[in-house]
Amino acid sequence: MPAPLRPGELLFESKGENMANQPETLRPNTRFNLEETFETDRPTTKAMFERARGLLAGGVSHQSRFAVPFPIYVERAEGARKWDVDGNAYIDYAMGSASLMLGHAYPAVVAAIQSQAALGTFFANCHPLEVEWAELIQFMLPSAERVRFVGSGSEATSLAVRIARAYAEKPRIIRFEGHYHGWHDHLITGVAKPFDQPPTLGVLPESVASTVVCPVELSAVAETLERDDGIAGIIIETSGASWGTIPLPEGFLAGLRELADSFGVVLIFDEVITGFRFSPGGVQARIGVTPDLTTLAKILTGGMPGGAVAGKAEIMHLLDPAEETQGKRPGVSHRGTFNGNPVVAASGLATLKILKDGAPQRIADARARAIRDGLAGILERHEVAGAAYGESSTFHLYFDAKGRTGIEGATAAELKGIPKETVATLNRGLRTRGVELMSYTGGTTSSAHGEDDVAKTLEAFDDVIQEMVSAGQLARRA
Ligand code: PMP
Repeated sequence: MPAPLRPGELLFESKGENMANQPETLRPNTRFNLEETFETDRPTTKAMFERARGLLAGGVSHQSRFAVPFPIYVERAEGARKWDVDGNAYIDYAMGSASLMLGHAYPAVVAAIQSQAALGTFFANCHPLEVEWAELIQFMLPSAERVRFVGSGSEATSLAVRIARAYAEKPRIIRFEGHYHGWHDHLITGVAKPFDQPPTLGVLPESVASTVVCPVELSAVAETLERDDGIAGIIIETSGASWGTIPLPEGFLAGLRELADSFGVVLIFDEVITGFRFSPGGVQARIGVTPDLTTLAKILTGGMPGGAVAGKAEIMHLLDPAEETQGKRPGVSHRGTFNGNPVVAASGLATLKILKDGAPQRIADARARAIRDGLAGILERHEVAGAAYGESSTFHLYFDAKGRTGIEGATAAELKGIPKETVATLNRGLRTRGVELMSYTGGTTSSAHGEDDVAKTLEAFDDVIQEMVSAGQLARRA
């Protein structure tokens, strides 16, 4: 077993022992042609995608993994790096879709997974690790009086909606424009413009009608609650839409808490991204606002499939099968073969034990801050209109079409409306230079990212942005 982490100890610093022997295949800082080098450096990748297109629907297993001309195929990863099938290295800011706060293949997490796998991967029984895992979640997260494990973040928000409806005995849920809560029908309407329509075929009109999409304004929420007495709950991404691409106004979550209390509706914080990241106890611990229910996934499981709903005992008791056997009204039924799977529990528990004191989060925050500061300097140097922003261990880049700097004047539609070609060119260019973003124009850091990773990342951004400026793809400052 690896030695336990000391408080404040740097994890996976790229100069440290874990990264010392990694081959360095990042490209040198030379000007390049984005389009040409991307394809010529990836012959195996290209062939793999051609093969995949005849096998996987759309060639991919997740819509956002698709890319033009083809996605990358990753073979292995360690710390802040991953390597594709052609041997290209990437400094990774996707970090398992923001699930890897300690970096890839963190030794204590790998050891926990291996030792549990050797004892059995799944029992379909209760097991000690789920109890220990829930105990730690209860300790870390203010709202977690009770915990129920589920199979993913989408399952967590889906269950939270069912619990809220059952508790309030009302049908509709308020959600916010542009926020993402998973791919299921209950909350998909409102994720993209036009906000009153689902962004996909196959959603029942009844599901659309039961999802009330509000702009991020307390007055709009209050008006909706006054007008509609069929609202069961309110759900929100605590970072603001799409892990903070559209930040929330100051005091918004506290304002929602007051409205939920005065109208008697269930307040759900979706902390799938922010949980254990924005602080060991998520956004709720950081700002001192406690929701009724919290949805969790990603870091919760240390990068394994899974999730949880945590919340007030008074509400979560609806999931208690003992109440049903005592002849009380039937509660909320919830199943799921792999809920609280022991290998996932081992990974989650090992991860949360290390994240408990907040030291890894502080390292990740410092790296993201350095990236944001560096990006702001790059935009200024190249006179590009836009901004670098973000909170905690996230960074976002915004390109403004009207020549403005900062995001203060930008609307939500503008922040999420950077032209697709611009986003694709930026991402392809950065991949060519050995940097991978999480999605769109931003990324998340982990405690495995070192200061030298930040420096190399900023060099890559500098090159790509300079090239995009030369190609006339970015608006200059007015
Ligand atoms: N909520 C939020 C805030 C998310 O970011 C995501 C996934 N990115 C989900 C829910 C859905 O989680 P999953 O992809 O595990 O279903």
